[in-house]
Amino acid sequence: MSAVLAVADHRRGELRDVSFELLTAGRELADDLDGELHVAVIGGDVESFADKLDRDGVDVVHTVDEGEEFNHDVYVQAVEALCGEIDATAILAPNSVNGLDYAPAVANGLSIPLVTDAVALEYEDGLEVTREMYGSKVETTVEVDADRFFVTIRSGEWPATEDRGDASLEPFEFDLDESAVGSRVTGFEEVGEGDVDISDADVLVSIGRGIEEEENLEIVEALADALDATLAASRPVVDNGWLPKNRQVGQSGKVVTPEVYIAVGISGAVQHVAGMKGAKTIVAINTDPNAPIFDIADYGIVDDLFEVVPELTEQFS
Ligand SMILES: Cc1cc2nc3c(=O)[nH]c(=O)nc-3n(C[C@H](O)[C@H](O)[C@H](O)COP(=O)(O)OP(=O)(O)OC[C@H]3O[C@@H](n4cnc5c(N)ncnc54)[C@H](O)[C@@H]3O)c2cc1C
Repeated sequence: MSAVLAVADHRRGELRDVSFELLTAGRELADDLDGELHVAVIGGDVESFADKLDRDGVDVVHTVDEGEEFNHDVYVQAVEALCGEIDATAILAPNSVNGLDYAPAVANGLSIPLVTDAVALEYEDGLEVTREMYGSKVETTVEVDADRFFVTIRSGEWPATEDRGDASLEPFEFDLDESAVGSRVTGFEEVGEGDVDISDADVLVSIGRGIEEEENLEIVEALADALDATLAASRPVVDNGWLPKNRQVGQSGKVVTPEVYIAVGISGAVQHVAGMKGAKTIVAINTDPNAPIFDIADYGIVDDLFEVVPELTEQFS
C-alpha cells in the first residue's frame, strides 16, 4: 500500500498552523493514491505534538525524539530513514524556512524529484503540482515523471484539519550518524525581538501608502487597538522605515492567513496580494473604486481612510 509521509513544522515549542494544513493536503493525496497518511514530528516536545497532530484522516503519527530545535542534518537523516521504513511514495513538507532547508537534501539523498511551493496537487495517472509564477500572475502545472516524489506546500492554500482522529502513535528510532551532524543550535534570536509574528494573527489591520506619512500611523494603530488586531503593512510603508520588515505582507514579505484582513490605503498590487489572498474575510478601504484590492475584497469602503478609520475605531471601542 502507498504511504504519504507529511513532516510537521514546529518552532519554539509550538506546532505551526501549516502543519495542520499539511494534514489536509496529505490526506487528499493519500486518498488519490489509495494509501495511508503518516505524519512525522521530529525533535521538541514530540509526545504533545503527536497528540495535537492526531487529527481526522491521519493513520500514523511517528515521533522522532532527537533534539529540541530544528537541525538540518537530523531532519535529513530522520526523514530519509522514516521514508525507507514506511516505503513512502510521497513526502510532503511545509514550504517554510525549515521545509526548504531539508527538502532538497532529502530529495537528493533519495534521488527523487522535489517540487516546491505547491498551491494544489492532483494525482491521477501521475502527480500534477500547481505552482504560481511572476508574482502569482500565472499558474503553472508541473507534471512529475516519477513514482516517488517530495513536494513542499504553500501555507494558507489548504484548510487546516481540525477534527480529532484515531491515529496510532509510534515512536521512531533510528541510528543517528552523529559524525554527519555538522551544526548545532546554540541560541535563538527573534528577528525584531519583542515584535509579533503577523503570520499567526487572527485579525490584521494592514496599512499602505495611502497613509501618506509616518505621523498618521497612529490613526490605524488606534483601530488595531480597538479590534485587538495586529498591525501589518505593504512594502512602501516598510521601505520608508515606518514599520519593521517583519510586518510586511506579500511576495517579499510574509504570507498571512488571518480570519479578517483590513487593507487600509493599499492598492492591491500582485506582490501584495500574493501574501494575503488566503485571508478568510478581506475588507478594503480605498478612495479609488478601481483599485485592484476591490477585486478580491469581501467588503469594500470607497472613501477617505482619514474619515473612515477614526469612525470605525469609535464604533469598535
Ligand atoms: C520584486 C517585488 C517584490 C515586491 N514585494 C512586495 C511585498 O512583499 N509586499 C507589498 O506590499 N508590495 C511588494 N512590492 C511592491 C508592489 O509592487 C507595490 O508597489 C506595493 O504593494 C504598493 O503598495 P501600496 O498599495 O501601499 O501603495 P500604492 O500602490 O501607492 O497604493 C496606495 C493606495 O492608497 C489609496 N489611497 C490614497 N490615499 C487614500 C486615502 N486618503 N484614503 C484611502 N485610500 C487612499 C490609493 O487609491 C492607492 O490605491 C514588490 C514589488 C516588487 C517589484
